[in-house]
Amino acid sequence: MNHDVSPARSEVLRGIAGSPGVAVGRAVVVGAQKAVHRHRFVAPTEVAAEIARYGEAVERAQQDLREMATLVGDRRAETSILEAYVLMVADETLAESVRVQIETDRRCVEWAVANAIEVIANRLAAVDDPYLRERSHDVEFVGDRLLRALGNDPHGSGLPALSGPSIIIARDLSPADTAAMVDAPVVGFVTEMGTRTSHTAIMARALEIPAVVGVNDVLRRVSAGDTVIVDGLRGTVVVRPTQEQLDEAQGRADRHSALAKELQESRHRPPTTKDGVPITLRANVELPAEAILARDQGADGIGLYRTEFLYIDRASPPTEDQQFEIFRAVVEAMRPKPVVLRTFDIGGDKFASTFQVPPEMNPMLGLRAVRLALSRPDVFLEHLRAMVRASAYGNVKIMIPMVASLSELRHVRALLTEAHADVRDRGLPCADEIPLGVMIEVPSAAIMVDLFAQEAAFLSLGTNDLIQYTLAVDRTSRSLAYLASPFDPSILRLIAGVIRAGEEWECPVSICGAMASDPLAAMLLLGLGVRDFSMEAAAIPEIKEAMRRVTLADAETTAAEAMRLHTAEEVEHCVAASFAPLLYDLLTGER
Ligand code: PEP
Ligand code: MG
Repeated sequence: MNHDVSPARSEVLRGIAGSPGVAVGRAVVVGAQKAVHRHRFVAPTEVAAEIARYGEAVERAQQDLREMATLVGDRRAETSILEAYVLMVADETLAESVRVQIETDRRCVEWAVANAIEVIANRLAAVDDPYLRERSHDVEFVGDRLLRALGNDPHGSGLPALSGPSIIIARDLSPADTAAMVDAPVVGFVTEMGTRTSHTAIMARALEIPAVVGVNDVLRRVSAGDTVIVDGLRGTVVVRPTQEQLDEAQGRADRHSALAKELQESRHRPPTTKDGVPITLRANVELPAEAILARDQGADGIGLYRTEFLYIDRASPPTEDQQFEIFRAVVEAMRPKPVVLRTFDIGGDKFASTFQVPPEMNPMLGLRAVRLALSRPDVFLEHLRAMVRASAYGNVKIMIPMVASLSELRHVRALLTEAHADVRDRGLPCADEIPLGVMIEVPSAAIMVDLFAQEAAFLSLGTNDLIQYTLAVDRTSRSLAYLASPFDPSILRLIAGVIRAGEEWECPVSICGAMASDPLAAMLLLGLGVRDFSMEAAAIPEIKEAMRRVTLADAETTAAEAMRLHTAEEVEHCVAASFAPLLYDLLTGER
């Protein structure tokens, strides 16, 4: 490795591991890239011209995004994210807000766009769900493209020319920025903003470039030209490293590359345990574009499509046709593999704009998910009809979130029957039967699971919420995170009960909570009897490899032992003692 060891002191910055791998390069610092815009009141005679300028800007921004998509060629994950932006640029809610501001407030179009974007982005930024909160950056990006298009500078990404292995240091990176770097010698990304589910992280994983996101103050602490180590395994950034740190990083980089190569090669091998027991690995997706990523990772279908994303940044719910088109695209992309469409899981605090629900003291215990859906049958029926229509184009199943009582399942079934009949009456194609399953994520459903197993077509363990509601720990709380363990004996007992009921009543059981993507927890689930796992697409190759190294008998022995223990720590220790040595490289990211 040919990097100067800087005389200035080395510094280690901590962030979130966004994309695995270790890279060394020169820092290229990209400042805030926002376009500048005008604030001007317009005369009544200018109103029509300003509205026309908006229409032109939308077209120009769309064309620009399409050109970027051509630029990235066959990198399908990026292309499809850019295509999603093409749709977002033309969003009707945004257009309506811009029009009202020009006509009523007499603002110039640049001002109106900037204002409308700020309102939508702020609304998203205030949401509890970290994934949806991240989407505020997508909205800001869309606004930025529109403002650039209005300033006749659609191509300006502001990226400097790069030479030699470069580490991009930025406040935030949009997919367009990363697209512009596809052919550049970029070996790593570091951003101040972002979480594991932000687009910088998703794109970096798709491009297999190490990334650390959410690094406080990084723009102030790194100077252009500094040598930097990006450690996307530990979530650290070493600025001006010592020779010793450089050597250590090179060793880790090599060991990670060896592991990544091995996982890449086994991506399309069938998932089985070491002794040949078949396992099903599916993907959880939030954005339609992620369906393609899921397919590339070898997912055997989509086990959880979180449809709430369709509702969140809008003043009114999307129409049946809009929803149908999106569902159809996902279903067709995965055909003939199944797609589990989960009906929207929106919480009491998340959708003031769409549903006008009054604030609640405890939104997590309030009008969330199926409870909200049943309180607004008009909106829910449109949602169900769109799903029923999508069933004509592939293998569709429907799943209900946050079910706490059998009456809710029965009520949804009645509405689904009504939606099905409506679609048929309109002469539209649809499947004859659409399996209706429930998430087991509220303790009451886990306790009553024998009855659910007799009435539902399938059960899916939502361990993120099951842990939250069983242990009474808010899933977003950092300070109580230590209590919210998937290894807690109470969770194991509930899971074991669900698996038993599924077997007794021949009702398929799967898991779609994040527990499934933790290699050690996945071994425990295997031993408890789970065979169908759904997880973030990027985790699939790793979990597949983990499964291939263990026998079912070993997993069952460990699970039986774990079931006799009394605390989460004891269980975790027991599972780690059995499997950590076998899975060491997968747990550390180094071969
Ligand atoms: C869960 O609760 O485990 C789950 C998969 O659903 P979500 O994370 O969307 O609430
Ligand atoms: Mg849930």
